[in-house]
Amino acid sequence: MQFGTKAIHAGQEPDPVTGAIMPPIYQTSTFVQEAPGQHKGYAYARGKNPTRAALERNLAALENAQFGLCFSSGMGAIDAVIKLLAPGDEVITSDDVYGGTYRMFEKVFASFGIRFHFIDLHDEALLKSTINEKTKLLWVETPTNPLLKVIDIRQMAALAKAHHLMLAVDNTFSSPYLQNPLDLGADIVMHSATKYLGGHSDVVMGALCLNDEALYQRLAFIHNSCGATPGPMDSFLVLRGIKTLHLRMKAHCYNGRLIAEFLKAHPKVGKVYWPGFEDHAGHAIAKSQMRDFGGMISFTLQGDDYDKAMKVATSTHLFSLAESLGGVESLIGHPASMTHASIPKEERLRFGVVDGLLRLSVGVEEVEDLIADLEQALEQI
Ligand SMILES: *Cc1c(COP(=O)(O)O)cnc(C)c1O
Repeated sequence: MQFGTKAIHAGQEPDPVTGAIMPPIYQTSTFVQEAPGQHKGYAYARGKNPTRAALERNLAALENAQFGLCFSSGMGAIDAVIKLLAPGDEVITSDDVYGGTYRMFEKVFASFGIRFHFIDLHDEALLKSTINEKTKLLWVETPTNPLLKVIDIRQMAALAKAHHLMLAVDNTFSSPYLQNPLDLGADIVMHSATKYLGGHSDVVMGALCLNDEALYQRLAFIHNSCGATPGPMDSFLVLRGIKTLHLRMKAHCYNGRLIAEFLKAHPKVGKVYWPGFEDHAGHAIAKSQMRDFGGMISFTLQGDDYDKAMKVATSTHLFSLAESLGGVESLIGHPASMTHASIPKEERLRFGVVDGLLRLSVGVEEVEDLIADLEQALEQI
């Protein structure tokens, strides 16, 4: 079945009682039992809820997975994966991993005796020399935030396999429409469903998808035991959002390409980071593992000036100044003062988050209007 058909139908049946075409929002905490332990598969809503179960089946289908688990946030999903580990275990991830992930690893789990290595995953020699007998997990994001670096998932999977590591891929930036990491050899795929999956900036949710049943049972146990489970209303909203995921992603990619090209040709713009450009360092790998190049774009201004970047970020009318990404509405952000503000300046400069860098989450408005908005904002400097 094609992606768009799965997005609309997978995991859902008309309601057997009423024929409702959409899964009802089962707003209930518990389920009546005929005798102790005798129930219809649902006992208590933290463990399992029918609205959430429909979403989990749907998401699993989109990632070509056997199993899906939804969490109350993307961070809740990452937290569950790290709880598979034990004190003494080590994790390798990239030095430009999502800020919230960095914070959870370093400020929460490091004090539980888990060691995290933040390295440049393109440096194969360094990667190999960092792996030791305590390494259990390789945590990868691609494309990365905010510089849209592309990591070769097949290469990471081969390395993980050779060293008996688990490979988890945060697929938030791509969405399952653009990239399916399990097909490329990953063990676990993670999403912040808050972003493209929900797609309407109205819900916070996370998800894990995977194929290994034993690993699924361990994660489902952590899910229920630790309790970062989403409510039925939020599950419904994401299920509804996913029905247009393929249509939205096509529009994000179309608008993304035209805006990336507009920026590249603009005299006040310096570098433009977008994996669809043939001269982007990760273009060939992106082409081999993604269906298209998405609507996330970062760019610098000529002269790399903090004040000018701030001026542009506050002069747009359609691009709203906000954290987050992946909604139908376009957003603009200034990583140096927003998403990466907590990282020491020397460190963020080292991996390219300069003062004049701006990040766009290109929405699905009409692209002529978006370009005109950027044009007038660039005229202000
Ligand atoms: C937003 C985001 C997260 C965290 O997800 P929440 O839903 O905000 O908890 C993790 N990884 C990436 C790449 C993200 O963009």
